[in-house]
Amino acid sequence: MKNKKICILGGGLSGLSTAWKKMRQGHEITLIESSPRLGGVLQSEQRNGYLLDYGANTLSLRNQETSDILEDMGVLKYALDANPNANKRFIVRNQKLVSLPLNFSSFLSSSFLSPLGKLRLLLEPFIQRGNHDGMETVASFISRRLGKEALDYCGNPFISGIYASDPETLNLANAFPALSRMEKQYRSLLVGMFKEKSSKKKPPKTRLLSFPEGMNQLAYHIQKNLPQDQLYTNESVTSVTNFGQGWKVKSHNQAGNISEFLCDEVISTIPVDQISNIIWDNLKGQEHLSNLMEVTHFPLSMVFFGIGREEISHNLDGFGFLVPEKEKLSILGTLFSSTLFENRAPHGKVLLTTFVGGERMPKLALAQDEQIYKAVEKDLSKLIGMKKEPSFKHIKRWKQSIPLPDKKMNLRIKASKELSFLNNGLYFSGSALSGVSLPNCIEADIA
Ligand SMILES: Cc1cc2nc3c(=O)[nH]c(=O)nc-3n(C[C@H](O)[C@H](O)[C@H](O)COP(=O)(O)OP(=O)(O)OC[C@H]3O[C@@H](n4cnc5c(N)ncnc54)[C@H](O)[C@@H]3O)c2cc1C
Repeated sequence: MKNKKICILGGGLSGLSTAWKKMRQGHEITLIESSPRLGGVLQSEQRNGYLLDYGANTLSLRNQETSDILEDMGVLKYALDANPNANKRFIVRNQKLVSLPLNFSSFLSSSFLSPLGKLRLLLEPFIQRGNHDGMETVASFISRRLGKEALDYCGNPFISGIYASDPETLNLANAFPALSRMEKQYRSLLVGMFKEKSSKKKPPKTRLLSFPEGMNQLAYHIQKNLPQDQLYTNESVTSVTNFGQGWKVKSHNQAGNISEFLCDEVISTIPVDQISNIIWDNLKGQEHLSNLMEVTHFPLSMVFFGIGREEISHNLDGFGFLVPEKEKLSILGTLFSSTLFENRAPHGKVLLTTFVGGERMPKLALAQDEQIYKAVEKDLSKLIGMKKEPSFKHIKRWKQSIPLPDKKMNLRIKASKELSFLNNGLYFSGSALSGVSLPNCIEADIA
């Protein structure tokens, strides 16, 4: 294979991982990032002795492929495993935290579902297979297979925790391809899980990871092994021109100086809604760009509270909790950040990270700081017995948080394939196309 010159647009996790893989294949890479730092959504900051992660908080390592890539990048040796307590998770039921079952006997004793709700869930192996036209919503799938109560008290809070969205909005095949496959293959999820668990080819044990100085270190450890003179920050891509034998990428810095890069291939990992900021010159199939940019995301605010351990009645012995919409509270959920990973709070203090807004309450995510703090304080006093106002408070706002895997994702993927087919050496990637989880961004494969 001939070595190619490849320009990668965007230096978030998708861009950095792509750069790494292309470099390992022997290509010459150039990475162009508009902001002063690499990492994109991966942002960590120390404030008043607390370590805050403004974007992703945890990397859930579930399969061998992600693990192998991270190992090859030389990143895994720096990773920090979560506290073993973190496999305990809570949901809110009747305004109280209830721990989710970890095995069958705790399933029977837990009050996360009513006895009828549990019975309905256990009937899952007897439910017919769905029609798999690729258009079913997550809400329809969960209520069809597991019952309405499981949708309200498991599906709904989990979707707001992962996607800041509602199960009614998301497309099953895009958001949870493994569940869709399992129903197709085994008819039943419970049967499928049992068979896969007892098969010889066991997946590796799931690890929940971060880094000693926060998730931004994931980006740092990838970029430090890339060719440093080919990493351009503070360079905003303004145009991409197809000139027949290759591509010309133009960018400008804050002083208005223009740079030009010539290459054989362009891989854009820029968030798809920002692709319109770029002039795509001499591009075949321009009409596909509008579908490529079709994306929905809701605003989300992350609220950080630091407070003395003795000011909270709850043991904080777990990952955190999620709030079902039925409970009619203001917050979507809270991570027990200083339980999850060490060194997140000064000695004697705890750090709590609460999610506000999303599809459920988009206006609250954009409200004044004081209104958000009040809403969070009210809910945390009720749910975990927070006795006084926290001594440390901070908000990180995301006007557009997570690109949703709804039915528009099919349009985006189709448009990106059409554009690559029509234009030799042009590819699109990034979380809106690959899926949003960190492993999705790390694994995303570009031909
Ligand atoms: C609040 C929040 C919490 C999350 N929590 C988790 C979690 O706990 N676990 C998990 O697995 N995932 C989580 N995610 C998802 C995950 O963090 C993201 O999907 C992933 O980091 C996206 O990486 P990316 O490279 O695709 O996009 P980005 O990180 O957005 O990177 C795109 C880059 O392109 C650059 N760019 C834009 N325009 C231009 C231009 N014209 N020229 C050059 N560069 C440009 C941007 O500056 C940016 O750096 C979370 C996401 C959010 C928002």
